[in-house]
Amino acid sequence: MRYVSTRGEAAPRGFEDVLLAGLAEDGGLFLPESWPLLSTAEWRELRGLPYAELSARILHRFVGDALTLEELRGLTTATYSSFRHPAVVPLVQLGPRDFALELFHGPTLAFKDVALQLLGRLFDHVLKKRGERITIVGATSGDTGSAAIEACRDRAAVDIVILHPEGRTSEVQRRQMTTVMSANVANLAIQGSFDDCQDLVKAMFVDAPFRGEMKLAAVNSINWARIAAQIPYYVASALALGAPDREVAVSVPTGNFGNVLAAWAAKQMGLPIAKFIVASNRNDILTRFLVSNDMSARAVEPSLSPSMDIQVSSNFERLLFELLGRDPKATAAQMQGFRATGRMPIPDAAWRQATQHFQGFMLDDAGTLAEIAHLHEAAGYLADPHTAIGTAAARACAPTDPHMPVIIAATAHPAKFPDAVQRATGVHPPLPAALADLYERPERFTVLPNDLAAAQGFVRQHSRRNAA
Ligand SMILES: *Cc1c(COP(=O)(O)O)cnc(C)c1O
Repeated sequence: MRYVSTRGEAAPRGFEDVLLAGLAEDGGLFLPESWPLLSTAEWRELRGLPYAELSARILHRFVGDALTLEELRGLTTATYSSFRHPAVVPLVQLGPRDFALELFHGPTLAFKDVALQLLGRLFDHVLKKRGERITIVGATSGDTGSAAIEACRDRAAVDIVILHPEGRTSEVQRRQMTTVMSANVANLAIQGSFDDCQDLVKAMFVDAPFRGEMKLAAVNSINWARIAAQIPYYVASALALGAPDREVAVSVPTGNFGNVLAAWAAKQMGLPIAKFIVASNRNDILTRFLVSNDMSARAVEPSLSPSMDIQVSSNFERLLFELLGRDPKATAAQMQGFRATGRMPIPDAAWRQATQHFQGFMLDDAGTLAEIAHLHEAAGYLADPHTAIGTAAARACAPTDPHMPVIIAATAHPAKFPDAVQRATGVHPPLPAALADLYERPERFTVLPNDLAAAQGFVRQHSRRNAA
């Protein structure tokens, strides 16, 4: 299996290079040269498999000869045995045809764990084989930092340093990062804003000698391996609801477009997903695109669903490439135009093709609270604000075939957003037992001023890049 860049100026690569590089050197995103297609009989054979086995078999179609099926199975088994639910990604029925696909049973209570937990192990496996090490550096406003730290902790070939703005994350978010005592994890609290943290990280990556010396790497959401690791849960849930002999729809609370793109990739493999509902909060660039071909960036508005407070959905470029008939020049021109003007009108035929499969839906904060209350009353279900936008979208955009089930990606545990849930229902969602003592655990982090030299010194001190 080889991968091409959506902008066409980078040489095709194998899985290992795509995993380690993240972004292609021409600024594009990697996609498989062609989609692996499964027959009806092959889909049926996957029914009922344990999740770790299912995910190894699906991922094996994407890794080529980088890893054997046995090696992959070892990694997925180790990864998913740490999840708190024996089904790993259980389906919960909310209504006659609506099913929540709970993706939040990993260590940090959000769906990103499903992919990142595996990614940390994939990095380690590939780096050990090559005799290399990397230092992952990232900035967080609270949410993604803990998922990255949990993914990389105790990995032998990886060190991780995460910058957060001092005093500006929630206490749960900070503690999920700073109570990890692994030797390869370091937390840096910057006396400044999230933007200051992000600028420091960018400056470190731009400093070529520093970048080379530290072997800096990122685990951002454009990494193809992250998308690939999200495909198996759509397969598992669709098979459980009758695929390949029955069509399903999916409803996905969307920010960077990674999660819904994984569902779309499953369809390219032959899984019968008839409809993709793209659910957003007030930051609704994707909904505006799907309703009226209005892809135009606006200022980000803070909402009750902060993980979807995004105006530029980076993974959209992968769908755009397909909509434009896999034409890299046309894709690059569209993306450059978007960057320059903040707007991206898409050729009419391509937009119409998108609207055949995708439908957008927007819900504001008041609607989100009402939906959380509704789910609690109607189904006794506590949903976090992100998930609630997905369930409301599933009803509003229900497929015309009344027998077609809708799989709703439940992307965060309600205890991750307790204030909104309590406001809507009067119930304070408790943290799962594994995190119940979070407030008693000791913390470890260093506070530094917003200063590049100081931050680089900290990274240098914590990178074990020269260790044997
Ligand atoms: C990251 C995140 C999303 C958005 O997922 P994308 O893949 O970026 O579209 C939605 N909900 C939660 C809880 C998240 O953490």
